[in-house]
Amino acid sequence: MKILLCSTILCVVATSITCDTCDKWPKNYTHLVMDIIGRDTCPRLKRSLSEWQFSCSKLKQLPIDEIKENYVRGNVENAVFSEVSPVPLKTKLRLVSISRDALTDILDMDPEISDTEEFIQFIAGNKVLDSSTPLAHRYGGYQFGLWAYQLGDGRAVSLGEYVNSKGQHWELQLKGSGRTPYSRFGDGRAVLRSSVREFLCSEAMYYLGIPTSRAAALVVSEDPVVRDQFYKGYPKAERAAVVLRLAPSWFRFGSLEILTENGELATLKVLVDYIIQEYFPDLKDDKNKYVQMFSDIAYKSMDLAIHWDTVGFAHGVLNTDNMSLLGITIDYGPFGFVETYDPLFVPNSSDDEKRYALCKQLEIVRWNLEKLAHALSPLLNNDERSQILDVMNSLSSYSTQKRRQAFVRKLGLQQPEDSDDELITLLLQIMAETRADFTMTFRQFGEIDLTDITDKSKLDTLWSLEKLSGHRLFEDFIELYRNRVKKEKGLTEEVRKERILKFNPRYVLRNWMAQVAIERAEDNDFTEVQMLHEILKNPFTVQEEAEKRKFADPPPEWSLFLRVSCSS
Ligand code: AMP
Ligand code: MG
Repeated sequence: MKILLCSTILCVVATSITCDTCDKWPKNYTHLVMDIIGRDTCPRLKRSLSEWQFSCSKLKQLPIDEIKENYVRGNVENAVFSEVSPVPLKTKLRLVSISRDALTDILDMDPEISDTEEFIQFIAGNKVLDSSTPLAHRYGGYQFGLWAYQLGDGRAVSLGEYVNSKGQHWELQLKGSGRTPYSRFGDGRAVLRSSVREFLCSEAMYYLGIPTSRAAALVVSEDPVVRDQFYKGYPKAERAAVVLRLAPSWFRFGSLEILTENGELATLKVLVDYIIQEYFPDLKDDKNKYVQMFSDIAYKSMDLAIHWDTVGFAHGVLNTDNMSLLGITIDYGPFGFVETYDPLFVPNSSDDEKRYALCKQLEIVRWNLEKLAHALSPLLNNDERSQILDVMNSLSSYSTQKRRQAFVRKLGLQQPEDSDDELITLLLQIMAETRADFTMTFRQFGEIDLTDITDKSKLDTLWSLEKLSGHRLFEDFIELYRNRVKKEKGLTEEVRKERILKFNPRYVLRNWMAQVAIERAEDNDFTEVQMLHEILKNPFTVQEEAEKRKFADPPPEWSLFLRVSCSS
């Protein structure tokens, strides 16, 4: 009784801290209290959906399509959303995985909620809560360099918004929840393999510290969906799955582009003003708010592309409809983490021209920002247009500097110098020419002293460095690196290695790891998905289970032939 009373009091304290002043407290403070009392006993966390509800939806203030019937239309007009309910799945549902952290920290749900049938029905789109205001968003986009008109959202429905106990605002979407007016030729569904990849990767990116949407839960049904995975004329029935995914906002560059391209300028202004008010509140009274918003999006987007670069992540489909206005990674499709380093790495087997290759992402993001600037231009006067041009012109030097800073950090250094570009370029050249592994090369620089690194016998267990060391310029590079380390005041080997291990992950979601989990999941064994999710929560920490499964070893040979496509 005493314990119960005590934990209730502590919990109320913790709740009030998180509700009102959470951001002012060190994050761990709340967690500490929660850990002492045990998360499961906290009334903040809802254990059933009858206790949980969406917050009042502001999105509904935006122009809504007048036509309420849900049938596919090529040109919806003067609307940001259409009112559409998810289409229920008809067959047996299975819960593949949840993200306990996303449920707890974002949605204030006790993970035990996922044991209930109503939760599974909710994720599948079969149970729509009374507080939900389901909407399908209308957007367009430039796909592979060309204006592609109205695109989506053809298979995601926003269920509503939730303001959590920390005061954070999140929009919940079901992806794969059936046809909408924007489905074009599609069935509105998503298959299990692509849903597992989105679920795992969006969570993994979060734990790598990269701005991203999140995934809270994934269910699979027996409803058949037919896909020709590699567009080679072999259609096959797969199973429909749904991901509950979360982001502060799902607006994209294409959300504005469609309105400008269609000349719907009044709606454009309403939407941009809404976006500023909700997601850039500091700018709402700024006389120069459109330029400021653009500038903010531009630098955040460049930062994001640099983040991707630092972990060797290629998004795969960097069309403007997949570019978030908040600078977060969204719409995980045929993405990939480069393994044997190749700057022209293209994870998407359909991208024959290598438009979205790893090393082109910064350039592409800049190209996409030009399209965003064009979409905003009807709202701007000449002076504002020229300011936007100034922002555009500054992006190249901005990204060079930020990228240098990021890579210098990966090498355990702290104060970037212009001459570091030579060091980084040389390393990447050697990596490419020796086909060294991107993730493990950086990581292994933190597992050996620079004094030992040119001694071949010390590289036995450092497989990626061993590869690198076969290059004729390896010793030149090490010489440069050693001298550079010496130049940084107080940088001992211990500190250098410690920093490297802190900033360079040991585990990323390699294609083969996802593939094993997908194949098991196809047989209704979801343990591998769940285990991967757990391991990728701590990508910087050596973990027994991950080592046992060889997640930091050279990828298995069979995986070299793995391909991913846009088909999902
Ligand atoms: P993505 O390449 O996944 O970003 O998709 C591009 C557009 O096609 C988006 O608007 C999606 O909603 C839409 N789309 C993709 N797959 C389907 C599908 N199976 N059914 C309906 N729309 C889809
Ligand atoms: Mg997309």
